[in-house]
Amino acid sequence: RAVTTYQGRFAPSPTGPLHAGSLVAALSSWLDARAWNEGRGGRWLVRIEDVDTPRCVRGAAELILQQLATCGLLPDAPPVWQSERGALYQQALDQLIAQGHTYPCACSRKDIEDAHAAQGHDRARHATLPYPGTCRHGLRGRPARSWRFNTTEFKPKYPLAPMDKAQAATFSIANGTVRWADRRLGPQAQHVASAVGDFVLRRADGLWAYQLAVVVDDAAQQITHVVRGEDLADNTPRQILLQQALGVATPSYLHTPLVCGANGEKLSKQNGAAALDLDDPLQALGNAARTLGLPPLDPSHKNSLPDALGMWVNAWARTYNGPS
Ligand code: GLU
Repeated sequence: RAVTTYQGRFAPSPTGPLHAGSLVAALSSWLDARAWNEGRGGRWLVRIEDVDTPRCVRGAAELILQQLATCGLLPDAPPVWQSERGALYQQALDQLIAQGHTYPCACSRKDIEDAHAAQGHDRARHATLPYPGTCRHGLRGRPARSWRFNTTEFKPKYPLAPMDKAQAATFSIANGTVRWADRRLGPQAQHVASAVGDFVLRRADGLWAYQLAVVVDDAAQQITHVVRGEDLADNTPRQILLQQALGVATPSYLHTPLVCGANGEKLSKQNGAAALDLDDPLQALGNAARTLGLPPLDPSHKNSLPDALGMWVNAWARTYNGPS
């Protein structure tokens, strides 16, 4: 199936204002949309991912939208808010339950830690281990807390529906291994059951998990191209499993380089990344462009914001879309 339209998105979690790292995700997804089809351009949407309400900060979403506007990154439609879309996520969960792809889970964090310890694992490492599968074959009288996706028995029921030819060439799900091609990272593979295990779709606190919400929304908004930070690359196989279980198309993916802080770690709100300076959007965009390997701003004369963005659209097309 040839892609005849382009719909991209930036999907920030409103846990704080944009920082140098999240601006890279915003700019790259915007550039990819604008550069599409030899500069004719596709659509670019913004989705506020505010499902994890305890982590959301009041006013952060509005601030993010304002920061984007100041940087000249304007969405082609009003933003959608995940907190208003619970009915869609419920519908998807119901479908997955009906198809037998999910199971209720009674385990608390402590239960999971105990199960890992009983398997001889170090308790300190427990959060990095896959769910041990305790409830996969029944709750044994314990009350259900969350819903999990069963990664061990997944067999695609629908024809695989990758978005473009390049991806179709390396796209498969066989014996639990998902193979896909990232536009920047190249061919990728993950055995989901052993790498991450049966992941949560609805949490014990009743909140929708990122994996389910993002897949439902990318499908509902008919997103054709996902461009986001490389830290999310290893979520892609889980999202592909969900897409295939739900019978929706898998978009094309491009994961961008990350901005690292002085300590060499990925910059994030958690490790104290500073909010962007709204007084100098060009400077902030220039830094984001450098991370993406795009040319710097002209130091001698001052670029205007539209000039700079236009220059980066062209450079993006040469760097990430190959020679035209
Ligand atoms: N909301 C996620 C984040 O801020 C990004 C989701 C995505 O692009 O798939 O990390």
